[in-house]
Amino acid sequence: MGTAKERGETTVEENNRIAQVMDEMGLNAWGICGFEPLRPFLLPCRAAARLPSCPQAVICVLFPYHVPLASRNLSRYAVGPDYHSVVRELLAQAAQKLQNSCPTYQFVPFTDSSPIPEVRAAVACGLGVQGDNGLFIHPQYGSWVFIGELVTDAPLPVNEGKNAGCLHCGACARRCPANALQSGGRIGPDAGRCLSALTQKKGELTQEQAALLQKGGSVWGCDICQEVCPMNRGISDTALPQFRRELHPVLLPGESRSLPNRAYHWRPAAVIERNLRILCTDDGNAKGENQPAGAAETPAAEQIKEGDHARNRAGSHE
Ligand code: SF4
Ligand code: SF4
Repeated sequence: MGTAKERGETTVEENNRIAQVMDEMGLNAWGICGFEPLRPFLLPCRAAARLPSCPQAVICVLFPYHVPLASRNLSRYAVGPDYHSVVRELLAQAAQKLQNSCPTYQFVPFTDSSPIPEVRAAVACGLGVQGDNGLFIHPQYGSWVFIGELVTDAPLPVNEGKNAGCLHCGACARRCPANALQSGGRIGPDAGRCLSALTQKKGELTQEQAALLQKGGSVWGCDICQEVCPMNRGISDTALPQFRRELHPVLLPGESRSLPNRAYHWRPAAVIERNLRILCTDDGNAKGENQPAGAAETPAAEQIKEGDHARNRAGSHE
């Protein structure tokens, strides 16, 4: 067999150092897949210029963000500080620590702009499966995860574990208020209908679109196809402190710029304020029979993420 070096692999000591760094960072859901099988699926983007010249492996890191919330009118991913900055910072720190631990190799972090098809990569790493709602689903954290990648020229041993697949129960498609999953096919929504995209659309909405928004009940994003998914039952809350603080789950009219660093700030305030006008009275109560702003969490009241949003949906990034 020869030594790891002779076989062109990283040593056990190097592999242990990598695991230790992830532990120290509080990142407990990560895996490794080879770079070559992903090569045909790489996404064209400027960030691809940052890939190491001889990429060997991809370390996929999951950032769980589910926390218990009594009520909300925002998609879960948007109730706390902007995940873009949180994930970017954590991944950059991890890359630096890995670089220090294994200085002969490069570790390049990719978050919001990435050539890596992240759902495919996370599945290839043996971390979980892709659901019929298009989202990546982890056995412990469900689909409430962001995915980041570290591409390295270290020839790391890859994970080969397989997870039980999506149950194909159809709940996500049946409960989607916009029928976006039925028109979108077996995997992933029809982006033209998906409420997550609609809540981020600029300009005025048609009457039909406004009615759809009211049916969903969320002023930003839509989580319904996640809330109804049986694979999301009994999942663990995030242990990452970054996703447990500064939570503001119920937004009132006029409040959209009152908090710093929110995911919905990537759109002009007029967009979310328009949604608030459609869904809420001035004092924040729900209009008509639709789900009230800040409704108690029931599966039908819930929603998901989109736009640049879907850190975890194939097709958004892939
Ligand atoms: S995010 Fe909402 S609208 Fe989009 S597919 Fe899921 S349930 Fe349907
Ligand atoms: S709701 Fe059912 S079909 Fe949809 S992703 Fe979850 S398990 Fe799969």
